[in-house]
Amino acid sequence: MSRNVVCRGCGWASWPVSRAWAERRVAEFNRFFDDASPETQESYGGRSSLDSYRCLRCDGTAFRPMLPEDHIPDLVTISTVVCDELADDPPEAH
Ligand SMILES: [Zn+2]
Repeated sequence: MSRNVVCRGCGWASWPVSRAWAERRVAEFNRFFDDASPETQESYGGRSSLDSYRCLRCDGTAFRPMLPEDHIPDLVTISTVVCDELADDPPEAH
């Protein structure tokens, strides 16, 4: 059973995470980024923020559970979005 969510704006599937989980990822990335060499910083393009945990396609922030009728294959999920009500946080390494 997939726990993906679907963007209410455009129908794009995403993986829902809690705001707290996303904030930890953003903080971790920014620590790494701030310590990185200028070349590395340039390759990443900038610091992270919660703005990147939105619908990849339309920047939407409203989601609903994915339904079988959506006919979205499980493996299409490529981005994570903040959706506290439906969050299914991946395990953390530490
Ligand atoms: Zn969308």
